[in-house]
Amino acid sequence: MLPEPKCRTKIVATLGPASSSAAIIHKLICAGVNVFRLNFSHGSAAEHTLRAGMIREISAQLRIPVGILCDMQGPKIRIGGFTDDQHITLADDMSFSLDSSIDPRGGNQQGVYIQQALLADIQQGDTLLLDDGRLTLQVTTKSATAANCLVIQGGVLSSNKGVNKFGGGLSADALTHKDMADIKTAAALQTDYLAISFVRCREDVELARRLLNAAGSNAHIIAKIERAEAITETYLPGIIASADGLMVARGDLGVEIGDANLVAVQKHLIEAATNANKVVITATQMMESMVSAPTPTRAEVFDVANAVLDGTDAVMLSAETAVGKFPVETVKAMARVIAGAERHPLARRSKHRIDQSFQRIDEALALAAMYVANHLHGVKAVVCMTETGFTPLLMSRITSSLPIYAMASKPGTCEITALYKGVIPVPFAATEMAPAEINHRAVETLRASQVVTDGDLVLITKGDFVNVHGGTNTLKIVRVGETVQ
Ligand code: PGA
Ligand code: MN
Repeated sequence: MLPEPKCRTKIVATLGPASSSAAIIHKLICAGVNVFRLNFSHGSAAEHTLRAGMIREISAQLRIPVGILCDMQGPKIRIGGFTDDQHITLADDMSFSLDSSIDPRGGNQQGVYIQQALLADIQQGDTLLLDDGRLTLQVTTKSATAANCLVIQGGVLSSNKGVNKFGGGLSADALTHKDMADIKTAAALQTDYLAISFVRCREDVELARRLLNAAGSNAHIIAKIERAEAITETYLPGIIASADGLMVARGDLGVEIGDANLVAVQKHLIEAATNANKVVITATQMMESMVSAPTPTRAEVFDVANAVLDGTDAVMLSAETAVGKFPVETVKAMARVIAGAERHPLARRSKHRIDQSFQRIDEALALAAMYVANHLHGVKAVVCMTETGFTPLLMSRITSSLPIYAMASKPGTCEITALYKGVIPVPFAATEMAPAEINHRAVETLRASQVVTDGDLVLITKGDFVNVHGGTNTLKIVRVGETVQ
C-alpha cells in the first residue's frame, strides 16, 4: 500500500533528546514527518549517525520514504564566558563593554570578552543584539580593544550567548572548521540534504558543495537565509542560483532585520525560490508554545497556515520536537493545521508562470502536465517517472490539489522528493521493467492502494530512457480500467 499523506505541505522535524528513540521516530513518521533535521549545533557525530540509522530502518519498515537534512552550526558569533559561569543582570541605561582584552572566561558586570577581529565591523552608534535579540546594546564609544555600550534593553546575560548586529555586517566565514568536519559526517551518514547556516553569498554555497562532493556526497544544499546581507539583491539571486533550496531561518534573520520585516521577507523568499524552481522551508518558532503545552496557540495555528498559503514546500519544527514535552502531538497538530489551510482556495489555484515562455523541454512539459491536470475533469493523479526528482520538483512549483506521484528507482531520489510540496515518493523499479509495461504497472500501483479506480484519468510523464536526468519529453493521459500501455 502507498502512504496516504494527510497534507501536501511537508513537515521537517528536528530530532533531539526528546525524540531519538525508535518508538518516537516511528510515531513521528506516522504522524506526518517527511524529513528529519539533525541539528549539528547540538550533539556528537556519533549521536547523529545513530539517529540517521534509526530513521532509515524505520522508514524502510513503514515503506514511507523519509529524508534526512543535516544542518550545520555555522559561525554563530558569541560572547565569552562569565567568571565561574555565573550570569549577570544588565539594567537599562547601564554601561557594558564587549572587550577583547578581557579573559575569555572572565566576564563580569562591567564587560565580557569578544573576538578582536569582530571589533573592526562594529562602529559607534551600532545596535548590538545579544541572546537572540533578548538584550539590546548601543555602541557609545570604541577603543582599540573594546566597544563600550549603553544598555537599551537589559536582562539576564549568561556565558557564550550569540551576538548579532542590527542590519547585519558582522563578518565571519560561513563554514567553520567544525562545519567542515561535520560535512564529512553528513556525507558518511548519507544525508539527503545539507543546510548551510549564515550563508552570505553564492561562494559560501559553492564551497560547501565542493567539500560535500569531495566527501563523496551529492546531497542537495539548502542555504539558510538568516543574515541581513543575504536578502539583498546583491546576494540573494546568486544564493538561490547556487543552492538547491532555501530555508527562511526566521530566528536569526528576525534578530538582524527586525521582526516587523520578517513577514514581507518570508513571502518574498518563498516566491523567489519557487520561481527559480527551488524548494523552500519555513522555519523557527512555528509551534514554540508546544515545547511545554499539548495544544498550539491560535497565533501559531495562523503562522503555520499562512506559511502554507504563502506557498512554502515545508514547515519546520525545532525545539518543539527536539527537546519539547509533546513531540508527537506537535507534529499531529501541525499536520491538522496544514490540512485545514490547504482547504482554502488560495492553496489550490495557481497562476505560476502562466505568461512566460520556457527554454527547457522538461520544464515546459512538467508545467503543461500540471495545467492539464488542473483543468481536465476526471484527473485523479499525476504520475511522474523520475530519475533525479527534477520533474516532480518542476511540477510541484504549480499549486494544485492533485497528488504528484514521483516514481523513482534510483536510491535517494524518493528521499529528496519527500520535501517537495504535493509530491508523494514511490520506490518503483522502472529500470527492471519492459518499457511497454511501465505505465500499466504504475497505474496498477495506484489502483492497488485505492488512489484511483476504474474510469479515473491518470496523467503520466516520462522520458525515452528511464534513467536519464532532464529527459522528460512525454505526457500521456490514461483511463484506469482500459488497456494501459
Ligand atoms: P537555527 O536556524 O535554528 O540553526 O538557529 C534557524 C533560525 O535561525 O531560524
Ligand atoms: Mn539560525
